[in-house]
Amino acid sequence: MAHRASPVPAPLLDPTTLGDLLRVASAPDYTRWEDQIRRTGGCSDPIHLTGWTLHKDKTTGETLHHYTTANEPGGRLRVACGNRRASRCPSCAWTYAGDTYHLIRAGLAGDDRRDVPTTVRDHPRVFATLTAPSFGPVHNRPDHGTCRCGAQHATDAPELGTALDPTTYDYAGAVLFNNHAGQLWQRFTTRLRRELAARAGLTRRELADRLRVSYGKVAEFQKRGALHFHAVIRLDGPEGPGTPPPAWATVDLLADAIRAAAAHSYTSVSVPAAEDQPARSFRWGTQLDARPVKAFGDGSDITEQAVASYVAKYSTKAAETTGTLDRRIGELAELDRHQVPDHTRRLITACRDLDALYPDRRLWAWAHMLGFRG
Ligand SMILES: [Zn+2]
Ligand SMILES: [Zn+2]
Repeated sequence: MAHRASPVPAPLLDPTTLGDLLRVASAPDYTRWEDQIRRTGGCSDPIHLTGWTLHKDKTTGETLHHYTTANEPGGRLRVACGNRRASRCPSCAWTYAGDTYHLIRAGLAGDDRRDVPTTVRDHPRVFATLTAPSFGPVHNRPDHGTCRCGAQHATDAPELGTALDPTTYDYAGAVLFNNHAGQLWQRFTTRLRRELAARAGLTRRELADRLRVSYGKVAEFQKRGALHFHAVIRLDGPEGPGTPPPAWATVDLLADAIRAAAAHSYTSVSVPAAEDQPARSFRWGTQLDARPVKAFGDGSDITEQAVASYVAKYSTKAAETTGTLDRRIGELAELDRHQVPDHTRRLITACRDLDALYPDRRLWAWAHMLGFRG
């Protein structure tokens, strides 16, 4: 039998790392170290704290509790970074998505631990999607026929959602819309209360004595870099989730009021002209979805579970779907290093160019979010 040299396994770790590993594993405080890592939930970027706290009884002056990180492994306490962006810390984002899921689910189905009674299931609940208007035609996949460019794009084609004609696409309008989306949402919620009051024949003040509107919302970026809001909107009685809304406050009335509020001229934000930029008035896009949320799906409606999963999924995403960066941009050269796609690059550049025209909007600081201020 021929002698074959047993294969030498490639070293998995370089000698320095291996040395560190052995040092940590054999240290007397290894158990505490492992405990710290476990408590951070495997956070990829834990925050290292050093310092001490001292709790004394106010009257006796007796030391009740004394803690110092000096006794921790390496003299440091590790705390999870708590970043909710999946691209930054998968572990913490997972925790955040789970928390969001339970929070939204609690808002829909009730949860004793969160002081939301299960009777909220009987309250009118609507899952609404408010979209951005058009800023110019983009490459798409219509149900019938081809894209306006004549091509039949594959589902993962990189050109989907990008401008058909970059020379006419309103990149400035798109980022200014994202930048003002929070205000537009505020206008929408104010108008929604008026619509509800009008349907019940009440003044806004009388409405507040009878009913409360509660929201859970999440922002989602479409591939074209325009913002969507998904929101769970629920009607409660005057004292909140523990009290029933009035009988006239039905789910159909709520859905109808949402549609009317989104389309109303009050629900708009004006942006003044500046140098080469025209004055703009932003409204929601015409695509509006407002669907009743049901405890169990019958095919026509959306379930509590589906809504909670959906909202949780988007709560950990920033604008990554557009290929932008997940942190603040220092200079445009960073876009080259990270191969940011052309459409997104134009949106980011628009943020930079508009920054001086609308200084209070801080567009350059929020360029990585395509103008949206979070
Ligand atoms: Zn983390
Ligand atoms: Zn196309």
